[in-house]
Amino acid sequence: MDLLALGELLIDFVSSEPDVSLIHAPGFVKAPGGAPANVAVAAARMGLSSGFIGKVGEDPFGQFLRETLVDTGVSDAHLYSDPEARTTLAFIATRTDGRKDIAFYRNPGADAQLSPEELPFDALRSCRCLHFGSVSMSREPARSATLRAVEAAREAGALISFDPNWRPPLWEDYTVARDLIWHAMPLADVVKLADEEWEFVTGTQDLEEGARKVLDAGPKLCLVTLGAEGAYYHNGTVQGRVPGFTVPVADTLGAGDAFVGAVLSEFLIAGKVESLSEGDLQRIVRFGNAAGALTCTGTGVIPSLPHRAAVQRFLSEQESSV
Ligand code: ADP
Repeated sequence: MDLLALGELLIDFVSSEPDVSLIHAPGFVKAPGGAPANVAVAAARMGLSSGFIGKVGEDPFGQFLRETLVDTGVSDAHLYSDPEARTTLAFIATRTDGRKDIAFYRNPGADAQLSPEELPFDALRSCRCLHFGSVSMSREPARSATLRAVEAAREAGALISFDPNWRPPLWEDYTVARDLIWHAMPLADVVKLADEEWEFVTGTQDLEEGARKVLDAGPKLCLVTLGAEGAYYHNGTVQGRVPGFTVPVADTLGAGDAFVGAVLSEFLIAGKVESLSEGDLQRIVRFGNAAGALTCTGTGVIPSLPHRAAVQRFLSEQESSV
């Protein structure tokens, strides 16, 4: 398997109208959600073989999520069904400026019931890349399972990708969240953060200063997505910004996951993350920006995650219109 993503797979109930609060949303549309699962789908659309490790409830929503993974070509071999806990639900009011109003129904939530004993160690030791986030570390036993899985894949030589994806409503204590994010940081090769969580995680608004902290912890590359502004990268030697693309935005859900799936596919093609030239980094981040921008043009995440050919077409259109 090229890529395994571990973590949450849940239902997003997305407000049927944009730019309303959860309080005033008139209705919700059911959609598959969960950042690591989105990354698994994004990677499959980039042409990678991908699989998902996690848990849903033994309920109609869990069944719907399993069918969705299978339909998108992501392996569900390590998606487990919990007979007791229900599939986690998230109600989301989206805004065209990218901000989100989110309420989780996760008490306890099947996604958090993944235990270390259930982990597919053979698959973890043979994948080329493992991607994870912090949501699966917000509760036990999934917290221990996440860390154990990352250690196993790392020891076997997989590329480890970490998107902290800090979701405040899921944490009773923000200090615990930050401590766990920094506990996981040295295990990762590539870390992608979004500008909204940057200051919380790094303690500074400054991109270079924060990236230095991340790189000092061990990762080889720090990426920061900046919404419509594009993204920033720092690999310890070179750093820079790559501007985003101007597109008609339907909603920005999943743009970060599309970005991650796209850049990881490029790292796997290159066969490395460290010692990439500045030109290669610029090209790869631009490719990620294009995947993110295209995701913003459609409604919902999974239907909007672009295929590799669509990203390539978009990039050549951009070049020919300059
Ligand atoms: P996240 O979903 O993790 O918060 P972002 O919203 O920053 O991540 O989006 C990830 C990438 O998608 C950005 O780096 C950018 O390239 C692209 N993107 C996001 N929002 C827009 C937008 N409004 N217009 C064009 N591109 C966007």
